[in-house]
Amino acid sequence: TSVTRFAPSPTGYLHVGGARTALYSWLYAKSKGGEFVLRIEDTDIERSTQSAIDAILEGMAWLGLDWDKGPYYQTKRFDRYKELIQQLLDEGKAYKCFMSSEELDAIREKQMANGEKPRYPGTWRDRTDHPEGQPFVIRFKNPLSGSVTIKDHIRGDVVIANSELDDLIIQRSDGTPTYNFCVVVDDWDMGITHVIRGEDHLNNTPRQINILEALGAPVPEYAHVSMILGDDGKKLSKRHGAVSVMQYRDDGYLPQALLNYLVRLGWSHGDQEIFSKEEMIELFSLGAIGQSASAFNTEKLIWLNQHYIKSLPEAEVAEHAKWHFEQQNISLANGPALEEVIRIQADRVKTLKEMAEISRYFYEEYDAFDEKAAKKHLRGVAKEPLTLVQEKLANISDWNPESIQAAINGTAEELEVGMGKVGMPLRVAVTGSGNSPSLDITLNLLNKEQVVQRIDKALK
Ligand code: GLU
Repeated sequence: TSVTRFAPSPTGYLHVGGARTALYSWLYAKSKGGEFVLRIEDTDIERSTQSAIDAILEGMAWLGLDWDKGPYYQTKRFDRYKELIQQLLDEGKAYKCFMSSEELDAIREKQMANGEKPRYPGTWRDRTDHPEGQPFVIRFKNPLSGSVTIKDHIRGDVVIANSELDDLIIQRSDGTPTYNFCVVVDDWDMGITHVIRGEDHLNNTPRQINILEALGAPVPEYAHVSMILGDDGKKLSKRHGAVSVMQYRDDGYLPQALLNYLVRLGWSHGDQEIFSKEEMIELFSLGAIGQSASAFNTEKLIWLNQHYIKSLPEAEVAEHAKWHFEQQNISLANGPALEEVIRIQADRVKTLKEMAEISRYFYEEYDAFDEKAAKKHLRGVAKEPLTLVQEKLANISDWNPESIQAAINGTAEELEVGMGKVGMPLRVAVTGSGNSPSLDITLNLLNKEQVVQRIDKALK
């Protein structure tokens, strides 16, 4: 069975790059009926924080990327890493290195001065004259000859000569295991069959494969996903705007839109753009991930967001929209069901944040009219039509879109003016602005008393 993992280092929020590799790993496992593991790589104790762990879990939950196993924490597995480091020492596959950092720096400087790549020269690899009581690190005995081939699902075969790799430190002088070693042990212990991760880890892979082989562990298959770039062609960063997944929630995006956006950022299936989660799972394959970097395109994300706001069931959109109304201190208790508001507003917004912004009038009295709209449609020009339409609306016994429309039409006919001369003042009076869905359905979501009272207020 296929087992994949997402292995974030908890040093910050879940960013879109991480979310995309998490999505690909999740999709691969789901598409194979396998398992998806979440592993928190918190060995860098200085930089790892509980709030970053919480932020990552929150981001995963918001995106709906659920895990079958975990979260595992590397800091809880130190005994296991130490056990295997001892095993490698006992088998002569790792060794203690007593070189001081000053010595190592001096060697590196010389190498660089000679135009060589700085590398540890294997000084302590075969020495047995170990000094007593001196600090040491433990290094892995990398093979001296031959090469490592990474069979990468995206990049094909990547071959690295062992002569390029020096003897990696697997245990620091303070006794803690290092990053590459922990990853290897975890991938093995957790039965990971497919490692899907960012291309920035490609350098680590040959070292990890050599350690896996020294441990007698199976080597997983790899897929190194290309970077995400900003619209200026540089690696995506905060400069380009939001990069945190939760920032997209805050900005009013649906998780469905972000997931659909991320799956297409590097993966394709013909020219199809819209994918439900079920379709993604059905169609996903590692071979269809592109080799080149992808540029983040906010316009396309907005387009997808609009698509999902318009096409998902209102109840599902409401689930996510609710939060934005709360954020904007709009109490949903006194007004129409949110689903009803979403039904008539869905095609008027790009984001759920806007949805809340433009729907306030359904739930509370607004403090002020939109100045431009009021000047044009209300002040000095609207007394007669507003008074008459108010009277007709107040007389409606069965409040529904048809009776509301009839009251508006009747007013225009009686006064022998165009519909706009009645509709626009009414719209501004009731919603506070010159923009709203058509009045029959808008007013229908409010009740008669509210409408009559708002017209009163506008007439003052
Ligand atoms: N912890 C690494 C990171 O956050 C990922 C390691 C891996 O996927 O192998 O970049």
